[in-house]
Amino acid sequence: MKPEQITVIYGTDPYSMTERLLERIALADLIPAGARIALKPNLVVAKPADSGATTHPAIAEAIIVYLQAHGFKEISIMEGSWLGETTEHAFQICGYTELARKYRVPLIDLKQAPTVRRRGGELDLAVCRPALESDYLINLPVLKAHCQTELTCALKNLKGCIPDAEKRRYHNLGLHRPIAALSSVLRPGLTIVDALSGDLSFEEGGNPVPMDRIIAGTDPVLLDAYAATLIGLESGDIPYIGFAAGLGVGSAELGRAAVIEINPDEKPSKPFRLTGQARNLAQWIEERQACSACYGSLIHALYRLKERGVLRKLPGPVRIGQGFRGVSGPGPGIGSCTRSLQTHLPGCPPTAAAIIRFLKAL
Ligand code: SF4
Repeated sequence: MKPEQITVIYGTDPYSMTERLLERIALADLIPAGARIALKPNLVVAKPADSGATTHPAIAEAIIVYLQAHGFKEISIMEGSWLGETTEHAFQICGYTELARKYRVPLIDLKQAPTVRRRGGELDLAVCRPALESDYLINLPVLKAHCQTELTCALKNLKGCIPDAEKRRYHNLGLHRPIAALSSVLRPGLTIVDALSGDLSFEEGGNPVPMDRIIAGTDPVLLDAYAATLIGLESGDIPYIGFAAGLGVGSAELGRAAVIEINPDEKPSKPFRLTGQARNLAQWIEERQACSACYGSLIHALYRLKERGVLRKLPGPVRIGQGFRGVSGPGPGIGSCTRSLQTHLPGCPPTAAAIIRFLKAL
Protein backbone atom coordinates (compact mmCIF):
# COMPACT_ATOMS: atom_id res chain seq x y z
CA MET A 1 0.00 0.00 0.00
CA LYS A 2 1.61 3.28 -1.07
CA PRO A 3 1.76 6.10 1.50
CA GLU A 4 -0.30 8.42 -0.66
CA GLN A 5 -3.11 5.87 -0.93
CA ILE A 6 -6.27 6.53 1.08
CA THR A 7 -8.88 3.81 0.81
CA VAL A 8 -12.53 4.50 1.64
CA ILE A 9 -15.44 2.10 2.03
CA TYR A 10 -19.04 3.20 2.60
CA GLY A 11 -21.69 1.30 4.51
CA THR A 12 -23.46 0.76 7.80
CA ASP A 13 -22.15 -2.67 8.83
CA PRO A 14 -18.67 -2.05 10.27
CA TYR A 15 -17.76 -5.75 10.42
CA SER A 16 -18.38 -6.53 6.76
CA MET A 17 -16.98 -3.14 5.68
CA THR A 18 -13.73 -3.84 7.54
CA GLU A 19 -13.54 -7.37 6.14
CA ARG A 20 -13.80 -5.98 2.62
CA LEU A 21 -11.34 -3.21 3.33
CA LEU A 22 -8.70 -5.59 4.69
CA GLU A 23 -9.00 -7.88 1.68
CA ARG A 24 -8.68 -4.88 -0.62
CA ILE A 25 -5.52 -3.55 0.99
CA ALA A 26 -4.14 -7.08 1.57
CA LEU A 27 -3.21 -6.33 5.16
CA ALA A 28 -1.52 -9.71 5.73
CA ASP A 29 1.08 -8.81 3.09
CA LEU A 30 1.97 -5.64 5.00
CA ILE A 31 2.85 -7.35 8.29
CA PRO A 32 6.04 -9.36 8.88
CA ALA A 33 5.44 -13.02 9.78
CA GLY A 34 5.35 -13.59 13.53
CA ALA A 35 4.92 -9.90 14.34
CA ARG A 36 3.46 -8.83 17.68
CA ILE A 37 0.47 -6.77 16.60
CA ALA A 38 -1.22 -4.12 18.73
CA LEU A 39 -4.63 -2.60 18.01
CA LYS A 40 -5.07 0.91 19.41
CA PRO A 41 -8.74 1.98 19.38
CA ASN A 42 -10.04 5.28 20.70
CA LEU A 43 -11.74 4.47 24.01
CA VAL A 44 -11.33 7.92 25.50
CA VAL A 45 -14.47 7.50 27.62
CA ALA A 46 -16.74 4.64 28.61
CA LYS A 47 -19.43 5.25 26.00
CA PRO A 48 -20.56 3.00 23.16
CA ALA A 49 -19.52 3.80 19.61
CA ASP A 50 -22.92 5.20 18.63
CA SER A 51 -22.29 8.12 21.01
CA GLY A 52 -19.75 9.43 18.50
CA ALA A 53 -16.86 9.06 20.96
CA THR A 54 -15.30 5.60 20.59
CA THR A 55 -14.13 3.10 18.00
CA HIS A 56 -16.75 0.56 17.00
CA PRO A 57 -15.71 -2.87 18.37
CA ALA A 58 -16.87 -4.61 15.18
CA ILE A 59 -13.94 -2.95 13.36
CA ALA A 60 -11.47 -4.42 15.84
CA GLU A 61 -13.29 -7.75 15.71
CA ALA A 62 -13.03 -8.00 11.92
CA ILE A 63 -9.31 -7.19 12.11
CA ILE A 64 -8.70 -9.85 14.77
CA VAL A 65 -10.60 -12.50 12.83
CA TYR A 66 -8.70 -11.60 9.66
CA LEU A 67 -5.30 -11.67 11.38
CA GLN A 68 -5.97 -14.95 13.17
CA ALA A 69 -7.14 -16.51 9.91
CA HIS A 70 -3.84 -15.42 8.35
CA GLY A 71 -1.80 -17.09 11.09
CA PHE A 72 -0.97 -14.10 13.29
CA LYS A 73 -1.06 -15.25 16.90
CA GLU A 74 0.29 -12.39 19.00
CA ILE A 75 -2.44 -9.77 18.91
CA SER A 76 -3.33 -7.38 21.71
CA ILE A 77 -5.64 -4.42 22.22
CA MET A 78 -4.20 -1.46 24.09
CA GLU A 79 -5.52 1.86 25.27
CA GLY A 80 -5.25 4.41 28.03
CA SER A 81 -8.50 6.36 28.43
CA TRP A 82 -8.57 10.04 29.28
CA LEU A 83 -7.80 11.42 32.72
CA GLY A 84 -11.30 11.17 34.14
CA GLU A 85 -11.91 7.57 33.08
CA THR A 86 -10.56 4.14 33.94
CA THR A 87 -9.53 2.15 30.89
CA GLU A 88 -11.02 -1.02 32.37
CA HIS A 89 -14.43 0.64 32.52
CA ALA A 90 -14.07 1.89 28.93
CA PHE A 91 -13.05 -1.60 27.73
CA GLN A 92 -16.18 -2.98 29.40
CA ILE A 93 -18.72 -0.43 28.20
CA CYS A 94 -17.31 -0.14 24.68
CA GLY A 95 -17.54 -3.89 24.06
CA TYR A 96 -13.83 -4.75 24.14
CA THR A 97 -13.86 -6.92 27.26
CA GLU A 98 -16.31 -9.25 25.54
CA LEU A 99 -14.26 -9.12 22.34
CA ALA A 100 -11.06 -10.03 24.18
CA ARG A 101 -12.73 -12.96 25.90
CA LYS A 102 -14.27 -14.26 22.68
CA TYR A 103 -11.03 -14.24 20.68
CA ARG A 104 -8.56 -14.76 23.56
CA VAL A 105 -6.82 -11.49 22.90
CA PRO A 106 -5.21 -9.63 25.83
CA LEU A 107 -6.37 -6.16 26.79
CA ILE A 108 -3.58 -3.86 27.93
CA ASP A 109 -4.45 -0.88 30.10
CA LEU A 110 -1.71 1.57 29.22
CA LYS A 111 -2.43 3.62 32.33
CA GLN A 112 -0.93 0.74 34.32
CA ALA A 113 2.00 0.11 31.96
CA PRO A 114 5.67 1.03 32.48
CA THR A 115 7.00 3.92 30.44
CA VAL A 116 10.09 4.56 28.37
CA ARG A 117 11.63 7.95 27.54
CA ARG A 118 12.10 8.85 23.91
CA ARG A 119 13.18 11.95 22.04
CA GLY A 120 10.53 13.32 19.67
CA GLY A 121 11.50 16.47 17.82
CA GLU A 122 12.67 18.91 20.48
CA LEU A 123 10.78 17.17 23.29
CA ASP A 124 11.66 14.49 25.79
CA LEU A 125 8.62 12.21 25.93
CA ALA A 126 7.35 9.42 28.16
CA VAL A 127 5.69 6.66 26.16
CA CYS A 128 4.02 3.47 27.39
CA ARG A 129 6.36 0.58 26.81
CA PRO A 130 3.83 -1.93 25.33
CA ALA A 131 3.02 0.48 22.50
CA LEU A 132 6.69 0.84 21.62
CA GLU A 133 7.35 -2.88 21.87
CA SER A 134 4.70 -3.95 19.40
CA ASP A 135 6.13 -4.84 16.00
CA TYR A 136 3.09 -3.60 14.10
CA LEU A 137 0.73 -1.02 15.50
CA ILE A 138 -2.72 -0.68 13.95
CA ASN A 139 -4.18 2.68 14.89
CA LEU A 140 -8.00 2.74 15.09
CA PRO A 141 -9.07 6.34 15.67
CA VAL A 142 -12.53 7.85 15.39
CA LEU A 143 -12.94 10.80 13.03
CA LYS A 144 -14.48 13.50 15.22
CA ALA A 145 -14.13 17.09 16.24
CA HIS A 146 -12.17 18.12 19.31
CA CYS A 147 -12.90 21.04 21.58
CA GLN A 148 -9.24 22.18 21.71
CA THR A 149 -7.42 20.83 18.66
CA GLU A 150 -10.47 21.04 16.32
CA LEU A 151 -9.80 17.54 14.93
CA THR A 152 -9.01 14.24 16.55
CA CYS A 153 -8.16 11.38 14.25
CA ALA A 154 -4.97 9.46 13.37
CA LEU A 155 -2.24 11.53 15.03
CA LYS A 156 -4.06 12.54 18.17
CA ASN A 157 -5.29 9.02 18.90
CA LEU A 158 -1.72 8.08 19.79
CA LYS A 159 -2.07 10.23 22.92
CA GLY A 160 -3.74 7.20 24.53
CA CYS A 161 -0.26 5.59 24.54
CA ILE A 162 1.22 7.96 27.13
CA PRO A 163 0.82 7.97 30.94
CA ASP A 164 -1.67 10.28 32.65
CA ALA A 165 1.00 12.65 33.97
CA GLU A 166 2.24 13.11 30.43
CA LYS A 167 -1.31 13.83 29.21
CA ARG A 168 -1.45 16.73 31.69
CA ARG A 169 1.93 17.98 30.49
CA TYR A 170 0.76 17.87 26.84
CA HIS A 171 -2.05 20.26 27.75
CA ASN A 172 0.44 22.61 29.40
CA LEU A 173 2.52 22.47 26.22
CA GLY A 174 -0.48 23.43 24.09
CA LEU A 175 -1.10 19.92 22.70
CA HIS A 176 -0.02 20.51 19.10
CA ARG A 177 3.77 20.22 19.38
CA PRO A 178 3.79 17.21 21.71
CA ILE A 179 1.15 15.39 19.62
CA ALA A 180 3.36 15.85 16.56
CA ALA A 181 6.46 14.85 18.51
CA LEU A 182 4.76 11.67 19.74
CA SER A 183 3.85 10.71 16.19
CA SER A 184 7.55 10.79 15.29
CA VAL A 185 8.19 8.20 17.99
CA LEU A 186 5.16 5.92 17.64
CA ARG A 187 4.71 4.90 14.03
CA PRO A 188 1.61 2.81 13.25
CA GLY A 189 1.99 0.52 10.26
CA LEU A 190 -1.62 1.13 9.35
CA THR A 191 -4.42 3.44 10.41
CA ILE A 192 -8.06 2.44 10.00
CA VAL A 193 -10.38 5.34 10.77
CA ASP A 194 -13.85 4.75 12.18
CA ALA A 195 -15.74 7.48 10.32
CA LEU A 196 -19.15 5.93 10.90
CA SER A 197 -20.64 8.56 13.20
CA GLY A 198 -18.00 10.64 14.95
CA ASP A 199 -18.93 13.61 17.07
CA LEU A 200 -19.72 17.03 15.68
CA SER A 201 -17.97 19.16 18.26
CA PHE A 202 -16.47 17.28 21.16
CA GLU A 203 -14.31 14.19 21.68
CA GLU A 204 -16.58 12.98 24.48
CA GLY A 205 -19.49 12.26 22.13
CA GLY A 206 -23.14 13.20 22.42
CA ASN A 207 -23.65 14.69 18.96
CA PRO A 208 -22.87 11.85 16.55
CA VAL A 209 -23.10 12.69 12.86
CA PRO A 210 -23.71 9.88 10.35
CA MET A 211 -20.81 9.69 7.88
CA ASP A 212 -21.04 5.91 7.27
CA ARG A 213 -17.55 5.14 6.06
CA ILE A 214 -14.27 3.59 7.13
CA ILE A 215 -10.99 4.98 5.84
CA ALA A 216 -7.55 3.35 5.72
CA GLY A 217 -4.05 4.57 4.99
CA THR A 218 -0.44 4.23 6.06
CA ASP A 219 0.45 7.93 6.27
CA PRO A 220 -1.24 9.35 9.39
CA VAL A 221 -0.42 12.93 8.44
CA LEU A 222 -2.06 12.63 5.05
CA LEU A 223 -5.01 10.80 6.58
CA ASP A 224 -5.52 13.63 9.06
CA ALA A 225 -5.22 16.26 6.33
CA TYR A 226 -7.90 14.38 4.39
CA ALA A 227 -10.09 13.69 7.44
CA ALA A 228 -10.04 17.39 8.36
CA THR A 229 -11.77 18.28 5.09
CA LEU A 230 -14.54 15.77 5.81
CA ILE A 231 -15.59 17.71 8.91
CA GLY A 232 -15.20 21.18 7.44
CA LEU A 233 -11.63 22.01 8.38
CA GLU A 234 -8.43 22.57 6.43
CA SER A 235 -5.15 21.00 7.52
CA GLY A 236 -3.82 24.51 8.20
CA ASP A 237 -6.47 24.86 10.93
CA ILE A 238 -4.77 22.09 12.91
CA PRO A 239 -1.16 22.98 13.72
CA TYR A 240 -0.11 19.47 14.74
CA ILE A 241 -0.62 18.23 11.18
CA GLY A 242 1.97 20.69 9.86
CA PHE A 243 4.30 20.04 12.79
CA ALA A 244 4.14 16.27 12.19
CA ALA A 245 4.88 16.79 8.49
CA GLY A 246 7.84 18.96 9.51
CA LEU A 247 9.19 16.10 11.62
CA GLY A 248 9.06 13.79 8.60
CA VAL A 249 6.14 11.71 9.87
CA GLY A 250 4.24 12.05 6.60
CA SER A 251 2.91 14.47 4.04
CA ALA A 252 0.27 17.15 4.62
CA GLU A 253 -0.03 17.81 0.87
CA LEU A 254 -3.54 16.69 0.07
CA GLY A 255 -2.85 17.07 -3.62
CA ARG A 256 -0.62 14.00 -3.33
CA ALA A 257 -3.41 11.80 -1.98
CA ALA A 258 -4.82 9.06 -4.18
CA VAL A 259 -8.29 8.46 -2.73
CA ILE A 260 -9.72 5.10 -3.73
CA GLU A 261 -13.40 4.46 -3.03
CA ILE A 262 -14.06 0.72 -2.89
CA ASN A 263 -17.83 1.00 -3.35
CA PRO A 264 -18.77 4.51 -4.53
CA ASP A 265 -22.20 3.32 -5.64
CA GLU A 266 -23.12 1.87 -2.25
CA LYS A 267 -23.38 5.02 -0.15
CA PRO A 268 -26.10 4.40 2.43
CA SER A 269 -29.26 6.44 2.40
CA LYS A 270 -31.38 5.97 5.52
CA PRO A 271 -33.58 7.99 7.86
CA PHE A 272 -31.36 10.24 9.98
CA ARG A 273 -31.73 10.08 13.74
CA LEU A 274 -29.89 13.15 14.91
CA THR A 275 -29.45 14.34 18.45
CA GLY A 276 -28.48 17.59 20.17
CA GLN A 277 -26.70 20.21 18.11
CA ALA A 278 -26.82 18.12 14.94
CA ARG A 279 -30.62 18.06 15.13
CA ASN A 280 -30.76 21.84 15.51
CA LEU A 281 -28.65 22.28 12.40
CA ALA A 282 -30.99 20.08 10.37
CA GLN A 283 -33.56 22.93 10.35
CA TRP A 284 -31.36 24.60 7.70
CA ILE A 285 -31.62 21.58 5.40
CA GLU A 286 -34.26 20.39 2.94
CA GLU A 287 -33.41 16.73 2.53
CA ARG A 288 -34.79 14.16 0.08
CA GLN A 289 -33.21 10.70 0.22
CA ALA A 290 -29.73 12.01 0.90
CA CYS A 291 -26.83 9.64 1.43
CA SER A 292 -25.30 9.94 4.87
CA ALA A 293 -21.93 10.60 3.23
CA CYS A 294 -23.38 13.83 1.81
CA TYR A 295 -25.71 14.72 4.67
CA GLY A 296 -23.06 14.26 7.35
CA SER A 297 -20.68 16.53 5.44
CA LEU A 298 -23.39 19.20 5.30
CA ILE A 299 -24.09 18.97 9.04
CA HIS A 300 -20.40 19.43 9.79
CA ALA A 301 -20.20 22.34 7.35
CA LEU A 302 -23.21 24.10 8.90
CA TYR A 303 -21.73 23.68 12.35
CA ARG A 304 -18.44 25.31 11.30
CA LEU A 305 -20.39 28.16 9.67
CA LYS A 306 -22.35 28.58 12.88
CA GLU A 307 -19.10 28.66 14.88
CA ARG A 308 -17.89 31.45 12.58
CA GLY A 309 -21.13 33.39 13.02
CA VAL A 310 -22.22 33.30 9.37
CA LEU A 311 -24.90 30.61 9.38
CA ARG A 312 -27.74 33.14 9.61
CA LYS A 313 -26.62 34.68 6.34
CA LEU A 314 -27.65 31.62 4.36
CA PRO A 315 -30.15 32.65 1.67
CA GLY A 316 -32.56 29.78 2.40
CA PRO A 317 -32.67 26.07 3.16
CA VAL A 318 -29.87 24.03 1.67
CA ARG A 319 -31.20 21.26 -0.56
CA ILE A 320 -29.61 17.85 -0.67
CA GLY A 321 -30.35 14.30 -1.75
CA GLN A 322 -31.12 11.93 -4.57
CA GLY A 323 -34.74 13.12 -4.53
CA PHE A 324 -33.54 16.35 -6.16
CA ARG A 325 -32.33 14.60 -9.30
CA GLY A 326 -33.93 16.38 -12.24
CA VAL A 327 -35.65 18.91 -9.97
CA SER A 328 -35.30 22.54 -11.05
CA GLY A 329 -35.74 25.50 -8.75
CA PRO A 330 -33.75 27.66 -6.39
CA GLY A 331 -30.59 26.44 -4.71
CA PRO A 332 -28.33 26.14 -3.03
CA GLY A 333 -28.00 22.41 -3.62
CA ILE A 334 -25.29 20.16 -2.28
CA GLY A 335 -23.94 17.26 -4.32
CA SER A 336 -24.19 16.20 -7.92
CA CYS A 337 -27.79 15.03 -7.44
CA THR A 338 -28.88 18.68 -7.21
CA ARG A 339 -27.30 19.76 -10.48
CA SER A 340 -30.66 20.88 -11.93
CA LEU A 341 -31.08 23.55 -9.24
CA GLN A 342 -30.03 27.12 -10.03
CA THR A 343 -26.91 26.88 -7.86
CA HIS A 344 -25.30 23.69 -6.71
CA LEU A 345 -22.02 22.25 -5.52
CA PRO A 346 -20.89 19.20 -7.51
CA GLY A 347 -19.37 16.16 -5.85
CA CYS A 348 -20.58 12.76 -4.74
CA PRO A 349 -20.14 13.44 -1.89
CA PRO A 350 -18.49 16.85 -1.63
CA THR A 351 -16.35 17.36 1.47
CA ALA A 352 -17.55 19.59 4.29
CA ALA A 353 -14.64 21.92 3.55
CA ALA A 354 -15.86 22.29 -0.06
CA ILE A 355 -19.42 22.91 1.15
CA ILE A 356 -18.19 25.72 3.41
CA ARG A 357 -16.30 27.39 0.57
CA PHE A 358 -19.38 27.09 -1.66
CA LEU A 359 -21.87 28.44 0.88
CA LYS A 360 -19.58 31.27 1.94
CA ALA A 361 -19.23 32.32 -1.69
CA LEU A 362 -23.02 32.70 -1.85
S1 SF4 B 1 -24.49 13.57 -4.51
FE1 SF4 B 1 -26.36 12.31 -4.36
S2 SF4 B 1 -25.67 10.18 -4.69
FE2 SF4 B 1 -23.84 11.44 -4.24
S3 SF4 B 1 -23.55 11.23 -2.04
FE3 SF4 B 1 -24.80 13.05 -2.36
S4 SF4 B 1 -26.93 12.37 -2.19
FE4 SF4 B 1 -25.65 10.56 -2.48
